[in-house]
Amino acid sequence: MGKKAIVIGAGIGGIASAIRLAHLGFETIVYETNSEPGGKIRSSQFKDYRFDMGPSVFTEPQLVDELLHLNASSTSSFSYQKLPISCNYFFEDGVKIALPSGADMVSEVLHKELGEDKAQVYRYLKRLEDNYESVYPVFISSSLHRISHWFNKGLFRALLRIPKYGLLTTMNDMNRNRFKNKKTIQIFNRFATYNGSNPYEAPGMLNIIAHLELNIGPYMPNGGMVSITEHLYEHAKSIGVDFSFNTPVTSIKYDRNGIKGVTVHERNEEADLVVSNMDVHNTYKKLLTNIKGPEKILQQEKSTSAVVFYWGIKKKFPQLDVHNIFFSDDYEEEFRTMFRDKSICSDPTVYIHISSKAEAKDAPKYGENWFVMVNAPINTGQDWEALRMELRKNILLKLNRILGEDLEQFIEIEEYMDPIKMEDMYSGMQGSIYGNSSNSKTSAFYRHPNFSSQIKGLYFAGVTVHPGGGIPLALNSAKIIEKCVKRDFKLH
Ligand SMILES: Cc1cc2nc3c(=O)[nH]c(=O)nc-3n(C[C@H](O)[C@H](O)[C@H](O)COP(=O)(O)OP(=O)(O)OC[C@H]3O[C@@H](n4cnc5c(N)ncnc54)[C@H](O)[C@@H]3O)c2cc1C
Repeated sequence: MGKKAIVIGAGIGGIASAIRLAHLGFETIVYETNSEPGGKIRSSQFKDYRFDMGPSVFTEPQLVDELLHLNASSTSSFSYQKLPISCNYFFEDGVKIALPSGADMVSEVLHKELGEDKAQVYRYLKRLEDNYESVYPVFISSSLHRISHWFNKGLFRALLRIPKYGLLTTMNDMNRNRFKNKKTIQIFNRFATYNGSNPYEAPGMLNIIAHLELNIGPYMPNGGMVSITEHLYEHAKSIGVDFSFNTPVTSIKYDRNGIKGVTVHERNEEADLVVSNMDVHNTYKKLLTNIKGPEKILQQEKSTSAVVFYWGIKKKFPQLDVHNIFFSDDYEEEFRTMFRDKSICSDPTVYIHISSKAEAKDAPKYGENWFVMVNAPINTGQDWEALRMELRKNILLKLNRILGEDLEQFIEIEEYMDPIKMEDMYSGMQGSIYGNSSNSKTSAFYRHPNFSSQIKGLYFAGVTVHPGGGIPLALNSAKIIEKCVKRDFKLH
């Protein structure tokens, strides 16, 4: 009989792990609490408006392609387009910048619009690209916790560049030292939010995130973000992965020899290997109640959560694009309020994603589907109803001010998501989206490894473990698990 693998959770990290394990020859089943696959990458239809409920920025599509084509015979039709404008930036003083991608174009626009030194911007973007490519093989697609992973041909290059990463400075300081215009600094600082962190505390190294959006540019999957889930799910099934929905795993079984399986619906299911795609904190808290977890890792400060309004807007806004940011005037105060006061400031940065700009069928002919998101603190018992109502009012005031409209009259559909709902729907610790924050110089070393050092045969995938937050990193967590499993099970 072949070996059996169980994956807990059908988020992207779970599905990617399942595909890789099935490819290695494991009989693989995924147990998922919810009634559908994808975790946070899911879609809802409210009357004539379709919304991607979670992620909207898609980078490194080749990681999805790679999974879909692990089998030479795959016939997946997954496709995507590169967006000509990475993001539209709006500032309170009326300045609007439509930023394309590519070091040449970005430096040109930032020179023209914000007076930056073109050569300086270009050099900095190239530096971020080099940093990214140096750390990728060693820190992103390899385990930080297995020495055997370190010794690959990228190690020497990664070590040589250490002085260039900005390990001892913050993202903000690194950006502040490069640019003269506060707006440019704000644009570069913003990428800290891509893993739920604070640019005034997170290490300068994280500026590499900007490389993906500013040098390469974001993509838009045809069919919306949910098509990532749909294609990976169909592909997983086509190679034999079994899925069981509405099936929460209630405990992980093990003995001194290692993993035994899991419990679902009060029934024990045996396995040679288990991957948890559940938030790692909750995996220990709820599924491994008899074990002492790695407290130092689990007690780290958590990343941000979010409040999202899904608005069906019965009007077209030609000045908006697929991705739009309306910046707060005091960015530092915004993060201070979020991380220190666990609240949302009165002038928050508002992100609006409009997929119908690229996928016309996502909204009626006369309208647009607005995904309106503001970063928020994790749930520590705040009065979310009150915070949400206040936030809604402040968002409308801000958008009305900048767009010169009275938006309320155009909202014909309204739904929302907040940290409590996120906690309930995806089992994320206190609604945090990315597990631990990266707000310290050592935070990369306080992300949980992709395997358990206490229980042989137990692995961890998804954004709450190494290498971190966002779709590309969740996909890399599955890649690292594959490497570990190959070695642990002596597969070639
Ligand atoms: C509003 C929002 C905006 C975002 N924007 C972006 C973006 O633009 N770009 C980007 O790259 N990322 C973005 N992200 C983050 C992105 O969604 C995540 O990085 C990624 O989808 C998380 O994948 P995951 O595999 O770690 O887990 P999840 O998607 O959280 O999936 C975990 C799954 O495990 C299931 N589960 C939990 N416990 C159990 C159990 N006991 N038994 C069975 N099943 C269980 C859950 O139901 C869930 O389906 C965003 C997230 C949110 C919420």
